[in-house]
Amino acid sequence: MTRLREVRVGIQPIERFREVLAEDEIRGALATANRLRHRLAKRVVWNVNSTPVGGGVAEMLQSLLSYARAVGIDTRWMVIGAPPEFFRVTKRIHHALHGSPGDGRPLDDAARAIYEGALEENALELASLVRPGDFAILHDPQTAGLAPALRRCGVRVMWRCHIGHDSWTPEVERGWRFLAPYLRAAQRTVFSRKAYVPEVCDHGRSRIIPPSIDAFSPKNRDLSPATVRAILVHTGLLEGPPPPDADTGFRRDDGSPGRVERKADILRLGRAPPPDAPLVVQISRWDPLKDMRGVLEGYARMVDGHLEEPSHLVLAGPNVTAVADDPEAAGVFDEVAAAWRRLPHSLRDRVHLACLPTADVQENAAIVNALQRHAAVVVQKSLHEGFGLTVTEAMWKARAVLASAVGGIQDQIEDGVSGLLLRDPRDLDGFAALLGRLLGDSALRDRLGATARECVRRNSLGLGHLLRYAELIEELDEEAGPPGIPSA
Ligand code: UDP
Repeated sequence: MTRLREVRVGIQPIERFREVLAEDEIRGALATANRLRHRLAKRVVWNVNSTPVGGGVAEMLQSLLSYARAVGIDTRWMVIGAPPEFFRVTKRIHHALHGSPGDGRPLDDAARAIYEGALEENALELASLVRPGDFAILHDPQTAGLAPALRRCGVRVMWRCHIGHDSWTPEVERGWRFLAPYLRAAQRTVFSRKAYVPEVCDHGRSRIIPPSIDAFSPKNRDLSPATVRAILVHTGLLEGPPPPDADTGFRRDDGSPGRVERKADILRLGRAPPPDAPLVVQISRWDPLKDMRGVLEGYARMVDGHLEEPSHLVLAGPNVTAVADDPEAAGVFDEVAAAWRRLPHSLRDRVHLACLPTADVQENAAIVNALQRHAAVVVQKSLHEGFGLTVTEAMWKARAVLASAVGGIQDQIEDGVSGLLLRDPRDLDGFAALLGRLLGDSALRDRLGATARECVRRNSLGLGHLLRYAELIEELDEEAGPPGIPSA
């Protein structure tokens, strides 16, 4: 029995972009939306991925689809269901595309059988839902194998890859070799950067669309400083008491009121950070490539010998069992916890490992929002990164960001202008030095933060992203001609 399921998506009016974009941009977007609605008529744009929550893809789908639905485009979000061994294989592919060996096991015929077996059931279920002329946007390696079956149903298929590696290594090649047979069935492939397009997709039908954030979601919308503090005190991330008269209220995606009620599960030695302590924060899934442990060790190097500095470090991620397609989370968290236990008491006092509640995605987003807003420095010391949404989220909040110069982050941050880049992500002394510099210079933090926000406003809000998808759908529809089932 397959567990393919649909994620409910709300609607959000495009007009709300008036708060942050110029009137002619809004008018242009509405005109494109209108044109596309007429073209699509009763056809559906299916998005398929492998988790409804956790990670950047889920984050973007929730927001982008709600704007498209609001203008009358019938776009849906389906999540595949698969057994744990499927996700072990797809995590191996994910690591390979990032140039890393992952669990070191092969991507051989046995792995392929597991991959295809699980997707076959999902494809059958999808085939009963789609109609010729519909569009499918398949996200990431987990769903690439659905492309041939959907093409046979007369669906126009695009594959959107959210990850990638700047250079060609044997690992990277291993990953692409595995995916190649499925990708040949995709009529368009979409990548976050040019450097990520592999040979198998380099045939003139690949497009570059950088990711975006939703300025109006619970993750990114403005919160008053009192609410930020109330949320962080309530969840246990800051020492109380909460400010008088403030509560943990936030606005949900649909405009209805929400309140942060759950608490974070935090590993710490003593008290929570005092509200006036400068906070260094990294928020990520518990994934080895996010290098939470490196952040902990680099921070410890910076603080060691300077204990008079009042900063604290918070490493926060989702509840370790929360992200369905990420089987490594618990193990990575345990490793970070072990590194934390090895710190001397005086340093351990300053480092807090937090698992944020995920039962209510929007509550989780409001906590992330508050944490990013309260941070003096937001860190993203990834070893590889397709594109770091957390970086853009923090930049939108005018935070000073210190991130590794890897993958898409190099397009997101202009070093010394809209944030600071760490050239070699494994250079802990370099990391400690840059972090110390930022913590010691509030004028620099303010300057980087202000430029960062403006960069995001101009380049990374969702409307531009939607327009690129609209162009792509129009282009592919022109090329594909009238809907029908392919003859052979
Ligand atoms: N995130 C979250 N709660 C958490 C940890 C992460 O909502 O506890 C979000 C984070 O805010 C960002 C996304 O997950 O929106 C991570 O996207 P990113 O591109 O940084 O990394 P990915 O997880 O896709 O590799």
